[in-house]
Amino acid sequence: MNIKHFEKTSLGFFPTPLVELSNLSHFLDGPQIFMKRDDLTGLALGGNKTRKLEYILADALQQGCDTIITAGAAQSNHCRQTAAAAAKLNLECHLLLGGEAPTETQGNLLLDQLFGSHIHWTGSNRKGQDIPRIFSQLQAEGKKPYIVPYGGSNELGALSFIDAVAELQQQNTDVEFSHVIFASSSGGTHAGLILGKEIYKQTFDLIGINIDKEANSDLPFEQQIAQLVNTTAEKIGLDYQFQPHQLILNADYVGGGYGVIGQQEKEAISLTAKHEGILLDPVYTARAMSGLIDLVRSGKLTKNDKVLFWHTGGAPSLFAYAQALD
Ligand SMILES: *Cc1c(COP(=O)(O)O)cnc(C)c1O
Repeated sequence: MNIKHFEKTSLGFFPTPLVELSNLSHFLDGPQIFMKRDDLTGLALGGNKTRKLEYILADALQQGCDTIITAGAAQSNHCRQTAAAAAKLNLECHLLLGGEAPTETQGNLLLDQLFGSHIHWTGSNRKGQDIPRIFSQLQAEGKKPYIVPYGGSNELGALSFIDAVAELQQQNTDVEFSHVIFASSSGGTHAGLILGKEIYKQTFDLIGINIDKEANSDLPFEQQIAQLVNTTAEKIGLDYQFQPHQLILNADYVGGGYGVIGQQEKEAISLTAKHEGILLDPVYTARAMSGLIDLVRSGKLTKNDKVLFWHTGGAPSLFAYAQALD
């Protein structure tokens, strides 16, 4: 297939490992479970944003920008990886974090500081609404700012997950996965995996586990993701039209909403740690894993299935949630 290529700047270590979680499969008396370890992308304790940033920051460098602006939650993994990448690339980094400065600096926020990023607390504007204001301010100071979108979820970010499917296909020669399960939030991972599945003719069902009750824009998540699939396809010159109803975004596990740790998340963290020695994060991957566990217990995933859990990272925030998890 003739798809248009874009520049990347190297920020992580790829391929990330593909491992089998045989203890967890055995404990659940369920399907074979595998894990794609994007928690080990290598940039500043890893995560799925490393892949996206390789394309997005290559674009920033090409445009001659010297300052990066992005936004997220106080414990944003995206902001932490962006801050680290900016440090490596000699770019000034401004992070717009929702809420107010907490009394204790922990987890991702602590790391943001160590990477030398400039932190702006934005109160109830939690999803990057203040970006234009900071952008103008920095421009007025003579800087050349570049905006990395919320969660790194634009066409360049999504592109990186097309590559991730190619990477998976190359490293996996003998297992035919029936399902790929992952935490879906700002949609770039989901959109890229959808396109990667199409381009590399994969047969698995893609199951995004929705981790946030509130969409990032006026559009429902499904429409946002479908739109990103289509604009990304257009960007790479792929003739493909995707409709929102074609995607699976399971909203059964959103619990108390974004970042609210419930019994399900605690169980998923504890089982994965105890049986596999692998850390999940409380906000994203534990919620997605609790979905996987429930789909096994409710018989929707059976012993004949071969399920790949895409570990998207996030463990640094465990320390910020110590009280909820203890
Ligand atoms: C950002 C993030 C996700 C969600 O990825 P999107 O591309 O934003 O949907 C999942 N897990 C972790 C740990 C993340 O940091």
